Amino acid sequence: MIKQVNQEKLFIDGQWIETAEKLQVYNKFTGELFAEVSIADEKTVDQAIDVGVRAHKNTPFASDVRYNVLMKVAALLLEHKESLAEIIAKEGGKPITDALVEVNRSAATFEMAADEAKKLVGEIIPNYNAAGRFLYTVKKPVGVVAAITPFNFPLNLVVHKVAPALAAGNPIIIKPASETPSLTIRLCELLQEAGVPEGYVQCVIGGGRTVGEQLLQDERIAHYTFTGSPGVGKHIQKTIGLRKATLELGSNSATIVHLDANVEQAAQKLAKMSFAHAGQICISVQRIFVHEDIREEFMEIFLAEVAKLNVGDPLLADTNVGPMVNEKEAERVENWLTEATTGGATILSGGTRDKNIFTPTVLTNVKKGMQVLDEELFAPVVSVTSYSTIEEAIEQVNDSKYGLQAGIYTADLNLSYKIPYLLDVGGVIINDTCCYRTDQMPYGGVKESGNGKEGPAYAIQELVETVTVVVNLEQ
Ligand code: NAD
Repeated sequence: MIKQVNQEKLFIDGQWIETAEKLQVYNKFTGELFAEVSIADEKTVDQAIDVGVRAHKNTPFASDVRYNVLMKVAALLLEHKESLAEIIAKEGGKPITDALVEVNRSAATFEMAADEAKKLVGEIIPNYNAAGRFLYTVKKPVGVVAAITPFNFPLNLVVHKVAPALAAGNPIIIKPASETPSLTIRLCELLQEAGVPEGYVQCVIGGGRTVGEQLLQDERIAHYTFTGSPGVGKHIQKTIGLRKATLELGSNSATIVHLDANVEQAAQKLAKMSFAHAGQICISVQRIFVHEDIREEFMEIFLAEVAKLNVGDPLLADTNVGPMVNEKEAERVENWLTEATTGGATILSGGTRDKNIFTPTVLTNVKKGMQVLDEELFAPVVSVTSYSTIEEAIEQVNDSKYGLQAGIYTADLNLSYKIPYLLDVGGVIINDTCCYRTDQMPYGGVKESGNGKEGPAYAIQELVETVTVVVNLEQ
């Protein structure tokens, strides 16, 4: 039987466009061809930007209409939940249970952004020291926004850019990751069905160095909203000059399990969250610091839980760990492990690879200078290190070029209050792992983990221009 391969087009100026050059997208587990997608050439990208600029100037998109459209998209996402989750599982390799969660979250993100469209107001400024003047601000859309997104949350991370941009009244051009473009195409269909005005949403698909680069170079784009690796993030910041970017980048996130923690709960949850989506989550647990007095108890439960994880086909409901995005990435991890073991690290569990499937791997005896510790692994590999004082644990968490989120398990109330001030990260999760996100929270990191916050209520503020108005009352 010949398997049907989806033929996907670009969405430009309200039309579905086919181009000559095609991108082949593969099922990450079976390796079969999943979709053939039109690649945007230079002319098409230029046209998309032009259309966006014209929509911004000429096409009204009132906030009540925005609210209704965004709520409709949320409903449509839920209506198509099963088929969207299946694409995430096939094209992205994410276990189907997690893929369904991603679709539900995407719908919630749209609903939250819809609410923000209603609340977008300026403020009255006190006229202290400005007698005879009335001062206030208005918020207006910044203009054309370009969204450049990664492969690991191919729907919800696109939604975290599209929904706030539209809620603020901006046209948006999406360039999804080449490994997982189909979800953006499905999303554009749903946005069109929900009634987004023409020119307000477009997708251009192609390589980062071609299509992505053209978007960066074009001064007609007012704002970039990027999620991806720190290297590309830095390149964006350097390239766009004075224009603004929201940058959500990588991390080697850590979780502390302190002396007074609920050890069983911590070990069970950490075993799950160190390997969720094969560790390909920006806040994946990469470094665990356990107090030396509870290390033995922790390791016993932790390793037993890791051994229970099912590795394999993402379409099966009981799969916990699916494939990595490609074999090249899995080979990179293998090399980093060899470097670590040569330097004295010990593999306590896993460490084996079959093509792009890596077994959940637990390391110990890691030290500074090893890539498995210092760099972002983005793979199903975690290291466990013990410490004697909380100061020592905090120092080790902070001894990183990244700073996205950190977790701590502790029953000490005073420590819980103090620790957010002591950890150099954008989010502190108490009595859970660093790998926790709910879509309404302000989410973003410090240091090489980026700048700016996502979460509709926060992202929208980066996507509007605050205009100050001063009225002379003494005319
Ligand atoms: P990536 O940086 O390789 O690619 C991200 C996007 O950037 C893709 O669309 C890619 O085509 C594009 N791109 C690449 N080079 C470009 C260039 N020169 N100009 C413009 N665009 C370019 O990232 P990835 O491998 O898809 O995703 C993994 C990374 O994303 C990890 O570092 C992970 O931590 C990070 N991430 C961060 C968050 C967060 O919210 N902080 C969330 C998810 C993933």
